[in-house]
Amino acid sequence: MALIVQKYGGTSVANVARIQAVAKRVKRYRDQGDDVIVVVSAMSGETNRLTDLITQIDENGSCREKDVVLATGEQVTMALLSMALVKQDCPAISYTGTQVKILTNNAYSKARIVDIDAHNIQSALQNNQVVIVAGFQGVDKGGNITTLGRGGSDTTAVALAVALKADECQIYTDVDGVYTTDPRVVAEASHIPSLALEEMLEMASQGSKVLQIRAVEFAYKYNMPIRVLSSFDDADNAKSTLVTREEDVMEKVMVRGVAFSRDEAQLTIVGIPDIPGIAVKILSPISDANIEVDMIVQNIGSDGTTDFTFTVHRNDYPQATQILEQVCKNLSARECSGNTTIAKVSIVGVGMRSHAGVATQMFKALADQDINIHMISTSEIKISIVIDEVHLELATRTLHDEFEMSKGLSEV
Ligand code: ADP
Ligand code: ASP
Ligand code: MG
Repeated sequence: MALIVQKYGGTSVANVARIQAVAKRVKRYRDQGDDVIVVVSAMSGETNRLTDLITQIDENGSCREKDVVLATGEQVTMALLSMALVKQDCPAISYTGTQVKILTNNAYSKARIVDIDAHNIQSALQNNQVVIVAGFQGVDKGGNITTLGRGGSDTTAVALAVALKADECQIYTDVDGVYTTDPRVVAEASHIPSLALEEMLEMASQGSKVLQIRAVEFAYKYNMPIRVLSSFDDADNAKSTLVTREEDVMEKVMVRGVAFSRDEAQLTIVGIPDIPGIAVKILSPISDANIEVDMIVQNIGSDGTTDFTFTVHRNDYPQATQILEQVCKNLSARECSGNTTIAKVSIVGVGMRSHAGVATQMFKALADQDINIHMISTSEIKISIVIDEVHLELATRTLHDEFEMSKGLSEV
């Protein structure tokens, strides 16, 4: 008998028929003797609808109240699924993040899970009940409802799998696994049967939204394999992707996939003193405001001054701009400016560790398409570039072709 955590995303619970289909699948596992914990998202479109309601009242309103509103979406699905299971003669009980309790810090809208109390879940499992948990939400130590950021139900699922030492964490969605790039953007994208957690970590952090980055971080840290599957495919031999330890990956490739993100914005501060400690003066007020900085470039100084450019999530751009304007004044910098029409494209693969020349090949392919690169950042297994947003799709296709990902991948 295994303990399985299954997470169903928004499209998988989009309406009553879909919820009943999920109940049927869950029951199948239960009937074969497994213990099942199910994590659900809000019905598709619901989190956007709630966000829109919030915006209509007050975009800058209390973050605490916004999270209370946003958390309602998942509460509806969890109870409907529980009812659907009971109706199919499968005992079930649903819990909100607070009821579990999933303890988080108090960073509203991007809270981090700090602890999970497994008590309620364990006793329900002992009672032979399927346990359904609302994804995307938790509670801080003051009892306030928090949410984990868009896509956060993935993180709830992996965190529960780790906390309860599950045998498997299955993420059911509307695609049958992870592809070499978003199959909705590049139709020739290839299905990946297995890839390393480290590769998925880079793909997710560079914009592949099939899994939330924090979910992969958890899985990587605690070595919890994730299986990505489609809730729309009931066949016994349905395709899936196993995201697992590097040594367990079947096929080694040089470039595993192309990730991209439009959620980028660039900020530049020009004419700052070229002295030690300047980067801290610029970036610490940004991080104090809980804004994550991604790429950073500092130019070589001349005349005792230098320029400093960095990127943030586009949602954080207005606040980051305000902060930077203040920094600009404090440092008597010449000026600061910004750009929200940029995008980031990255190639990822553990095979890059042992291959020189991948960057040159990437830059040449982009140059041949007249795509100008504004910023570059690399890690051992990833190369990212910032370009104008208008070139995003062309760059993604170009790199997908260049590294032959449409035809069964480039072998190491
Ligand atoms: P859910 O609502 O189930 O959480 P998401 O919309 O968050 O689903 O994630 C699934 C989507 O991720 C797919 O429909 C696909 O468009 C997108 N996606 C982006 N990159 C990839 C990739 N490399 N492989 C598969 N899907 C991807
Ligand atoms: N409902 C939330 C969202 O749409 C969380 C999730 O689906 O994972 O982002
Ligand atoms: Mg998702």
